Amino acid sequence: MVGLDDFRHVLGHFASGITIVTTRDADGRPVGLTATAFTSVSLDPPLVLICVDLKARCYAALEACERFAVNILGSHQEALARRFASTLEDKFHGFECHAGHLELPLIPDALAHIECEKVAAYRGGDHTIFLGRVEAVRARDGDPLLHYRGQYDRLQSALKPGPFSAAGGGVR
Ligand SMILES: Cc1cc2nc3c(=O)[nH]c(=O)nc-3n(C[C@H](O)[C@H](O)[C@H](O)COP(=O)(O)OP(=O)(O)OC[C@H]3O[C@@H](n4cnc5c(N)ncnc54)[C@H](O)[C@@H]3O)c2cc1C
Repeated sequence: MVGLDDFRHVLGHFASGITIVTTRDADGRPVGLTATAFTSVSLDPPLVLICVDLKARCYAALEACERFAVNILGSHQEALARRFASTLEDKFHGFECHAGHLELPLIPDALAHIECEKVAAYRGGDHTIFLGRVEAVRARDGDPLLHYRGQYDRLQSALKPGPFSAAGGGVR
């Protein structure tokens, strides 16, 4: 049996982007949490998944909702990632969200927004996997916020410009 500490330590070696998953509770209030457990599932139809802890306070809202949004954070949004990973009562206090195509609360200035209709939920241990059919997307230029071995991180400037933008270079 793998120990919890070993499991966490090894999983930390998988570098990921950071998202804030948002939706509305039964009273229409915005709720959200920081999540790295996000991935694309299918291109046709366009599907993504998120995994949410059964103990998260916004779990009930995500379980009940018909729609959710995934906000992919930019490198300048570490404070927001920390805020939405905290136990603050009102994580939305002090800033205005955009209303998306599906009337979901979207995090301003995020690198990308993915709005979904929730189409399925599967229990997986102490989390639930929510499957979303993507209904609206938007992205803008910028660098992503990353998470690696328990730390927030950024793309190293040595990696820029990327292989696709090098003059005469990259594969297209
Ligand atoms: C880099 C990173 C990635 C993450 N990825 C994921 C992910 O993919 N999926 C995921 O599910 N989580 C993930 N988390 C954890 C998640 O962001 C936090 O647990 C977040 O705080 C959950 O927000 P919440 O408002 O739903 O719950 P919180 O309010 O933060 O509640 C969390 C815990 O505190 C208890 N609690 C809080 N306030 C009260 C209160 N007033 N009364 C009683 N109990 C209370 C809750 O019962 C629960 O056990 C991640 C965190 C980080 C830092």
